Amino acid sequence: MKLIDPTLLRSQAYVNGEWIDAEGGETFDVVDPGTGEIVGRVADVGVVETRRAIEAADAALPAWRALTAKRRSDVLRHWYELLMANTEDLAQLMTHEMGKPINEARGEAAFGASFVEWFSEEARRAYGEIIPSHDPSKRMMVFKQPIGVVAAITPWNFPLAMITRKVAPALAAGCTTVVKPPEDAPLTALAAAELASRAGVPAGVFNLLPTSEPAPVGEELTTNPIVRKLSFTGSTATGKLLMAKAAGTVKNVSMELGGNAPFLVFDDADLDAAVAGAIASKYRNNGQTCICANRLYVQDSIYDEFSKKFAEAVAGLRVGPAIDESTTVGPLVNDKALQKVESLVDDALSKGANALTGGKRHALGRTYYEVTVLTDVTPEMRISAEEIFGPVAPLYRFSTEEEGVALANDTPYGLASYFFAGDIARIWRVSEGLEYGMVGANTGLISAVTSPFGGMKESGIGREGSHEGMAEYLETKFVCIGGI
Ligand code: ADP
Repeated sequence: MKLIDPTLLRSQAYVNGEWIDAEGGETFDVVDPGTGEIVGRVADVGVVETRRAIEAADAALPAWRALTAKRRSDVLRHWYELLMANTEDLAQLMTHEMGKPINEARGEAAFGASFVEWFSEEARRAYGEIIPSHDPSKRMMVFKQPIGVVAAITPWNFPLAMITRKVAPALAAGCTTVVKPPEDAPLTALAAAELASRAGVPAGVFNLLPTSEPAPVGEELTTNPIVRKLSFTGSTATGKLLMAKAAGTVKNVSMELGGNAPFLVFDDADLDAAVAGAIASKYRNNGQTCICANRLYVQDSIYDEFSKKFAEAVAGLRVGPAIDESTTVGPLVNDKALQKVESLVDDALSKGANALTGGKRHALGRTYYEVTVLTDVTPEMRISAEEIFGPVAPLYRFSTEEEGVALANDTPYGLASYFFAGDIARIWRVSEGLEYGMVGANTGLISAVTSPFGGMKESGIGREGSHEGMAEYLETKFVCIGGI
């Protein structure tokens, strides 16, 4: 791996402003899923280092939160500029550690940086309020204050953006942070910490703990009473586990969990636009995002035409090494991911689904899987209920609008949903009827720093990005002054 600035390839944990080895010198390898090459060897920390990081964050808190919002904003702005100046290296790191196609990785580097820019601006707008008093001798006001030490646990599918989306608002609010990056993709996170250090983020304000064993580090982060908030992005199963642990000390939690996104195509939709939207939503990041379309419902009268056009568009995707400029679909992140996708497709095929295209491992070997479209999928197949996290699009039929919306809502998840339709009244009705935190109407791409990202039901608690993302790191304090 060639970096423009090779010093961005870090291998240690970042605690209290210093790069440290694990106590016992343990390390773990970071492997490029497309080549099998070891691209990094990283400190493998445990409970001892986690405690040190939490204590460092606690010690750094009074001075950081006492800074003016403008000073914190300036530091974040500088971090943003350094991230933007190094997007190519950040993209190279993530492409090699988790297989994101290089052009998408460049997009994520800029997207990740955009949260730091946005929250550097929001830092100065944490307004409180004055409440008209019910008693002439009293005055009432509401302050917004930082929650305190924040623990963040992030996934591999967006190695930079999932960290900046938490750390930037936390720092903007005046909190300090301890982050556990994913074991599959710690290198981008470490480079981001290096850039934060160069930007002048003070020692202890942002700590980063790479580990190959998330459970003991997670246990400490969720049970240590110093930690006041846990922000997690990952699977619903892990999120539930962490929420239960955090309950012991009643930590504030933000949870961005799994999804099972429906994508509805109505008979009055612009079919070409719907196909383009479905491709964008389904195959981005090789299907490995929690908002990727997981179930494509197509209205009866246009089912055949849509399937044909969709399969043609899918044929235009290029599976290949993530580092190639022309690749649109890279390898899956690891063997476990490959096996999961394979078992979901095999289960569907064995129960009567048909592969319009794809349906098996790709000839490139390793963790490559063919871009796949399945028809005749039914609710009895596991693929209907589970998050696929791979390049597989199952197509279902529906007949009426009511049935389509009911099928879309028939899941414990409620993160993202999409639909394509023409009639404006239908666009309103369906937008209101979908039980999801996010709805894309006539678009397959909905994420933006300006908008609240998050889920209903078992997809999570809280919102990231937008002005709401900052509120997650602020406490409301009511002050009543008497004797006036
Ligand atoms: P996925 O790997 O499917 O994205 P996970 O929920 O397993 O979903 O992983 C998301 C993040 O949660 C990763 O950083 C992972 O290391 C972490 N994680 C997994 N299990 C635990 C655990 N028991 N305690 C703390 N963190 C965990």
